[in-house]
Amino acid sequence: MRHVDVLIIGGGPAGISAAIWCKRLGIDCLLLEEQSQLGGQLFNIFNEIIDYPGMRTKNGIEMQREMVKHFVEMDCLYEVNTKVLFIDERSKTVKVKKQAKKQEICYTYLILATGSSQRKLGVPGEQQMIDRGEVYSASADGERLKGKTVAIIGGGDRAFEGAHLLSSKAREVYLIHRSTRFKAREQYVERIISNPCIKVMTDTEVTAIHGDRHVTSIDLESKNKEYKNKEYKNKEYKNLLVDAVLIRLGVAPNVDLIKGKVATAQNGLIVTDDVHQSSNPFIYAIGDSCTTPLFSSISSSAGQGAIVAKQLSSMLNI
Ligand SMILES: Cc1cc2nc3c(=O)[nH]c(=O)nc-3n(C[C@H](O)[C@H](O)[C@H](O)COP(=O)(O)OP(=O)(O)OC[C@H]3O[C@@H](n4cnc5c(N)ncnc54)[C@H](O)[C@@H]3O)c2cc1C
Repeated sequence: MRHVDVLIIGGGPAGISAAIWCKRLGIDCLLLEEQSQLGGQLFNIFNEIIDYPGMRTKNGIEMQREMVKHFVEMDCLYEVNTKVLFIDERSKTVKVKKQAKKQEICYTYLILATGSSQRKLGVPGEQQMIDRGEVYSASADGERLKGKTVAIIGGGDRAFEGAHLLSSKAREVYLIHRSTRFKAREQYVERIISNPCIKVMTDTEVTAIHGDRHVTSIDLESKNKEYKNKEYKNKEYKNLLVDAVLIRLGVAPNVDLIKGKVATAQNGLIVTDDVHQSSNPFIYAIGDSCTTPLFSSISSSAGQGAIVAKQLSSMLNI
């Protein structure tokens, strides 16, 4: 069976950084990524990235190219299209699937850099909508959504930012939130509430998304029919005709693989110490898999990759 000293699961900024640092420190290391390309969430960033020191890029794809170029130039060992299916922490082995082939890889230390994913509503029609490719970015898809009726679901910064961006393009924007309290920053909330082009519905849940070839409407369930915009007060909406739905419910760490094998917090994040060791001394976690969303970033993920590689270098006596 193949053995590596350090096995990294996930090829986003955290995993890429850890692999570059392992290479620099002379550690025998292999990175596995389930997608066909390295980069993780960088592929979802359509806005300019202005907060990574020394690299200002017009979007995430440009940063992905720069990071992968560096990674490849460093001759880091990696495999794409390779999904880790199972971790056996007792034998320190992972089971992986590469296309149709399954294999096992043995490790001395494991780094989980599995990142995070957008939370879903979990309602009928949602997955079909995603599978049809009806996934929009408020900053990049303004032209695609021009003149359409759009529903944005969520109460955080991204939902409010999206509503603001689309209010000048879409015909109508509904911001729908299941509570009356918003997590978004106060200045965002004020800007949206006072925007006559955005209809804010609170205490309202989306219960289904309809449409065969594209989204046509959503079902809503209102707890107390109290909508923020006066014109909706006391009106009960059961079905709302919309052309597009943007789900902005925040992110959840990708930790299914390790559930029950290392300690996780109530919010699902892997619990680590200051060198990113988990409750299992041979398993480390970095990036969004262990970082509160409020504090996660490309630079913090990259920094955690450096910390863990340096720690493992000393553990391996290199
Ligand atoms: C829209 C958007 C805008 C953002 N804008 C910014 C910004 O401007 N500045 C900033 O600093 N940050 C920004 N971020 C946050 C930043 O992208 C993340 O914090 C960062 O990508 C986290 O890196 P990561 O490596 O931990 O995880 P990810 O980037 O999520 O990468 C994890 C990787 O692990 C892989 N993986 C998961 N499970 C397995 C498995 N079982 N087997 C193999 N591979 C697996 C995934 O396929 C993925 O490629 C933004 C995020 C989004 C979504």
